[in-house]
Amino acid sequence: MTVHEETIHQLTIPTPFPVGPVHSYLISSDTLTLVDTGPLTIEGKTSLVSQLDTLGYRIDDIEQVILTHHHPDHVGLAGLFKSAVLIGHRFLRPWLRKEEKFFQKYKMFFDEFYHAHGFPRPVIDKVLQSGQKYMDLIEKTDLDVIVSHGDNVPGLKGWRVLEVPGHAQNHIMIVRTEDHTAIGADVLLGSISSNALLEAPMEEGKERPKTLLQYRETLLLVHDLNLNILMPGHGEMIKNVNELIGQRLQEHITRANVIKNLLADNRWSAHEISFQLFKEKHRKQAELTFSETFGHLDLLVELGDISVTKEDGLFLFHK
Ligand SMILES: [Zn+2]
Repeated sequence: MTVHEETIHQLTIPTPFPVGPVHSYLISSDTLTLVDTGPLTIEGKTSLVSQLDTLGYRIDDIEQVILTHHHPDHVGLAGLFKSAVLIGHRFLRPWLRKEEKFFQKYKMFFDEFYHAHGFPRPVIDKVLQSGQKYMDLIEKTDLDVIVSHGDNVPGLKGWRVLEVPGHAQNHIMIVRTEDHTAIGADVLLGSISSNALLEAPMEEGKERPKTLLQYRETLLLVHDLNLNILMPGHGEMIKNVNELIGQRLQEHITRANVIKNLLADNRWSAHEISFQLFKEKHRKQAELTFSETFGHLDLLVELGDISVTKEDGLFLFHK
């Protein structure tokens, strides 16, 4: 089947998150393929089912579902597709399976990490609890097929898988090489910068991934694809992909410099820096603002602009 006989439909599904609705994509091709599903909410399910119905399909008609990363707005309803093949990255598996041991280790990592970076105990408890609630918006299921960087997408001729870590450790995107078209989920968004979220190491004995540094490498990789169009997980279709990537990379440096200036005369914990930067927002959404801050601290350390010292069990950042 040629590119021209393939149709991509965008579905837009409501989410309970500040980011707003999420896009799924239905590719009608050799294999009827859905990319991402929307969250496990009544509104999400109703919306997905009715949009598929409008296109003439039932849930059971979908032959495979590609899951871009573990966030509930993207994979929450994957369990609905009982007769489809579920495809994703190997690091997506413990999230979908809801492996208790994995979650315990994950929580333990963040408990220690937040503590060592100056979070007060009540804030740590609140952040860890909200993480658990967030995961309730995913129905327990499992992957049938694991894909890796460079693989052909099973059942979709001409499409390739790329691993694009940064926003999530298990983030993949798919690219139709012939016409430089990609479905990118949260790898690049038009109106907001995609947060390089902090995550615990996925493998025993590994270090914490420096997610903003990873994300910047991912952006360079996407830049090299010279995409004509990138279909995102949220917001408008992106046609000026490389221009936007240049802008995002520059914004990271600009934000990092704000932190660098804050640290000209101060020795602060990452929690304090995050509070100075975000004030009220840091109180309300500490895990998001902290990821943002931490990413830029990693960047400044990498550039040799700041240092970090451990004093009495607390990490302090300084000139
Ligand atoms: Zn996401």
